[in-house]
Amino acid sequence: MNGATTSGELRAHNRVRLLRAVHDSGAVRTRSQLTRDLRLARGTASVLVAGLAEAGLLHEEPAPGHARGRPTQVPGPHPHGPVALAADVREDAWELAACELGGRVTVLDVRPHDGTPQGTLGPLGEAVAAHRRRLGHRVVGVGVALAGPIRHGGLVDIAHLGWRSVDVPALLNLPDGPAAQPGAPAFEPGETGARPGEPRPGEPLPGTPVIGNDTVLAALAEARRGHLRDVRVGLHLHVDFDLGGVLIVDGRPVPGASGAGAEFGHMPLSGGDRPCPCGATGCWGMDVGANALLRDVGLAHGGGRGREQAERVLATNGEAVEANARALGRGVAALVNAHDPEVVTLSGHGVELLQRAGQALMAACEPGLMAIRRDRPPRIEGSALGWRGSLLGAMESVFDHFLTPEGLELWRKNHPDQARDTPDRQSVTYSTLARHKPL
Ligand SMILES: [Zn+2]
Repeated sequence: MNGATTSGELRAHNRVRLLRAVHDSGAVRTRSQLTRDLRLARGTASVLVAGLAEAGLLHEEPAPGHARGRPTQVPGPHPHGPVALAADVREDAWELAACELGGRVTVLDVRPHDGTPQGTLGPLGEAVAAHRRRLGHRVVGVGVALAGPIRHGGLVDIAHLGWRSVDVPALLNLPDGPAAQPGAPAFEPGETGARPGEPRPGEPLPGTPVIGNDTVLAALAEARRGHLRDVRVGLHLHVDFDLGGVLIVDGRPVPGASGAGAEFGHMPLSGGDRPCPCGATGCWGMDVGANALLRDVGLAHGGGRGREQAERVLATNGEAVEANARALGRGVAALVNAHDPEVVTLSGHGVELLQRAGQALMAACEPGLMAIRRDRPPRIEGSALGWRGSLLGAMESVFDHFLTPEGLELWRKNHPDQARDTPDRQSVTYSTLARHKPL
């Protein structure tokens, strides 16, 4: 019951449960399925759905393929309902999307950047502000994934780009949105006291963006919508120019005390001795990912450049791909020995390394496993979300703060008369969640 004692609190609690169930299930369950799942009385569910529809939070459509009788209704996102703006900032480009309850994603903008903090985050902040103005009260928060460790207050370090203690909220320079609380603190998924995916009752919706590490957010999305769903202990590795990794326990990434964990790529797991831009020597990430692929074939690498060339190497140079996969496999074995995960999931280029050189990966992994692990080695799987994990994780972080009694109360307060807004101003162009690479 989550401490709900009065009938008003109980209603608020049930509204959150129902919206959460619609969101987590991808807005495909029928009202009767949801009623059963949540153990609600039918009348209670009807009243809840009607109230949420009136509040502009849900909209019901008949279930597809329903042939006879009264059609079964499927609650899904309201056409003028809440939107999370989510951005995935990679070392060479960023992607910005509008995400609705249920996880429907509409890509709004994809742009390359020059690798400087100002040249990256300035234009992103302008794009976010423009879409916030366009979508008005619908925007309930902004989530941003970045390819580096995040510290208190949204400070990020991206070693490959030479970023040190870059103040992300300051450079995004977002004006407070309609749901913003003046003076609300910046916070990120890994901040002490809260973990990704954990709503914090009593916390106002952020006027500043939710900032998270790309690997942590990809892991969060994998736990909600991918192969780590219902997995007790999992390991997620995200491979882009180098790699990051994080342990997921009971659906939550474990990002460390200050939020700057998820840095398995900076452990000496592959036996190399190259100096890493992070300051350490022999980091695993020096041997796995696009930078290592480019280096192995004698091409320029580093600074977030060379994605297209790396993709060509991935597609055509078996030797370089296998070397990458072997280094990945050796490190996976070490982490499996340490953490005993049920499943290891790979996102980004990890999916291609597994597809193109899975045998080499496993051949390098198995000898590194302790004897007691070899009988039942963990499954290694490509992400169900491809390159979209970090973006979807940024979305989940926003909705985790919104889908609370406090978040819904703010929505009610900030929700102007819908009739005053023309549909044109408010609509996002719908598209299905496509698995595709950046740019
Ligand atoms: Zn390093």
